[in-house]
Amino acid sequence: MKKRNRALLSLVLLLALLAGLWYLRSAQGGPQPVRPPAAVDLESIPPFSGEPYVALADNVPSFLPGEMTTSSYEVYSPLDGLGRCGAASACVGVDLMPTEERESIGQVKPSGWQTVKYDCVDGKYLYNRCHLIGFQLTGENANKQNLITGTRYMNVDGMLPFENMVADYVKETENHVLYRVIPVYSGDDLVAGGVQIEALSVEDKGQGVSFNVYVYNVQPGVEIDYATGESWLEGESRPEAPETAYVLNTSSKKFHLPACSGASSMKKENREEYSGSRESLIEQGYKPCGTCNP
Ligand SMILES: [Zn+2]
Repeated sequence: MKKRNRALLSLVLLLALLAGLWYLRSAQGGPQPVRPPAAVDLESIPPFSGEPYVALADNVPSFLPGEMTTSSYEVYSPLDGLGRCGAASACVGVDLMPTEERESIGQVKPSGWQTVKYDCVDGKYLYNRCHLIGFQLTGENANKQNLITGTRYMNVDGMLPFENMVADYVKETENHVLYRVIPVYSGDDLVAGGVQIEALSVEDKGQGVSFNVYVYNVQPGVEIDYATGESWLEGESRPEAPETAYVLNTSSKKFHLPACSGASSMKKENREEYSGSRESLIEQGYKPCGTCNP
């Protein structure tokens, strides 16, 4: 009997907790995505072949019936341990659209950010601070959870036409569009290989807007190392990594920054000064010191 009472009490407490969570969520600005979206498997995406995007799942967006809502919202993911953006979701309505001019976003440095110019890039700069959910849709500007390192080509040729389509539809009809953008990273890469964009118009159940695409984060004529954001002209060899000064311990096979206490306390006969790249040391079997993290 006692056992049964305890089980019943646990059940009631659990239900109360769930109800509480539900209330909290609905109190924070209406309906929101009902599940964390599944990440696209980069392996399943065909390699870039000259078109800025490919359709996924026969171009059918994967929103669930429970996500259909006519109240506007926008939700962004916290940055992960590598400082990378996650999924950004919104129900775009005219009430979210910006009424003010864009402000500068130059202070935001998304993961993998580099300032580099090429003559073959429109506007010269390879990378743009690329809004996951376009500024014209929600007016989110210098929000670092909504900005990734994206090529000019992805921004202008890949994403902008889809953003324009959604913005035009919402302005004309005053309907709502469910809209989700997921940056897709391979492993620990700091630069996304591309973004998945899904959209579905709500009031007319997708008659006006319905798509599910993957947009490539590439720049024709330029090679990109997605792990770091480094880049070089297609057909040229990758630039040498910059030389850095390190102190090696030839006995423990650790390498340090010159200012590390481990570098100054080292026995003289094991100490060696080194100038070169981190990668070259790792190739030689050295491991980075855990204190100075060189
Ligand atoms: Zn050290």
